[in-house]
Amino acid sequence: MQFRSTKSKLPLVSYKEAVLSCLPDDGGLYVPDQTADIRQFLFQMNEKTSFNDMVAIVAPSILEGGLNPISASKVAASAYNFQPELIRLNEGLSLLNLYNGPTGIFKDFGIAFLSAILEEFINEGEKAMILSAARADTAVSMAHAFSGRKGISLVLLYPSGQIRGLDPSAFVQNGGNIIPIQVKGTFDDCQRLVVETINDREFSQRYKVTSANTINAGRLLPQVFYYLYAFIQLKNDLSEDLIFSVPSGNFGNLIAGLYAWKFGMPVNGFIAAMNINNSFGDYILGKTFKPKPLVSTNSPALDVSVPLNYERLASFYEEAPAVMRNMVYPSSIGDDLTLQTMEAVYKKYNVHIDPNTAVAFAAAQKVIAEREWNCNAHTVVLATGHPAREASLAEETAGTSIDVPRSLLALKKKCEPVAVISPQLETLESAIASCF
Ligand SMILES: *Cc1c(COP(=O)(O)O)cnc(C)c1O
Repeated sequence: MQFRSTKSKLPLVSYKEAVLSCLPDDGGLYVPDQTADIRQFLFQMNEKTSFNDMVAIVAPSILEGGLNPISASKVAASAYNFQPELIRLNEGLSLLNLYNGPTGIFKDFGIAFLSAILEEFINEGEKAMILSAARADTAVSMAHAFSGRKGISLVLLYPSGQIRGLDPSAFVQNGGNIIPIQVKGTFDDCQRLVVETINDREFSQRYKVTSANTINAGRLLPQVFYYLYAFIQLKNDLSEDLIFSVPSGNFGNLIAGLYAWKFGMPVNGFIAAMNINNSFGDYILGKTFKPKPLVSTNSPALDVSVPLNYERLASFYEEAPAVMRNMVYPSSIGDDLTLQTMEAVYKKYNVHIDPNTAVAFAAAQKVIAEREWNCNAHTVVLATGHPAREASLAEETAGTSIDVPRSLLALKKKCEPVAVISPQLETLESAIASCF
């Protein structure tokens, strides 16, 4: 599979190039150019296939020469010591638990694979620098994934305020490869600095800078794996339609589902589950996209007004608008219904869910009722966050206590940055240079 920019048809670059140099010169984002067909592999696998075995089989096929099978199985083993888990709630409903990684968030799946494949791609003696904007938990996920990776250093830019949960023994001044830098500014300043640094071609070539943010197409691909995994777990029991309900903020997760479909996974639809920040739903329904001001909700991971993956999603709609309108169903859920759903799911199925997952759960119920979908349809709700991350909310709604894993408690520990800088490109570049 080769990649092209959302802004032009040519030139095409390999997956390796798209990962190591993640922004095309024309200001677009990389998207796959043609897509692989992995149907034959999906039909050979079943509920007995382990997640890592599945990854080792499908990754080389999706990347068509970009990764050989031996490397793929090495990368899978080095990325994943955690797995997705499909929880069958009843005949027509499952939860896909994606929160068993180090930070209790599904983003661990993409970040872990990207870190492992980068290490695999870098040849003996070569170096690369990952420059990423990150808030607390994503920062921890990245630090976990990149810590100790050969030839790679990780610069984490985070906005003013405390940083929590990082392990100082992995920092550069203690002999590690992690460089947390606090930026006196907002998260948007951090994201802007990442793009500016990469676009400073002299600097970014000297240090071989790329990013682990969603601007890197390499992070989308591994998110395809857990959709495929859910499919092979379920396929022998599926009689009719298969629907995924996806809690959506920046829409990376949903786009990964669309790629799984493009690669040949049989699926009938995706529910784009949003909270009250739902202006992107208009776009999905075929209207023009007009961002609305951001509202804070009790499902904060979905509080996004302009999705970072806007261009990637738009490229699907430009190709086949009518098909897309029969594939993606937007739905918006308010705070009250989110809490009621957390309570109802616990009472009915005895499982805790986090508020972001609750949005997807409620959206699934709403869309299925509205569309009178075939009653034999099977819906998979993506559980993107560990319920113990919002323990007090989960406990309040369910009326019982919840065990908080030790790894999640460690996320609360404060730590100091390596440098504190003003939000300017030159300041950032000299702070980075001083670490080497
Ligand atoms: C990031 C996040 C989401 C939203 O995912 P996108 O890919 O940005 O749409 C949903 N739930 C949780 C818990 C998250 O951290």
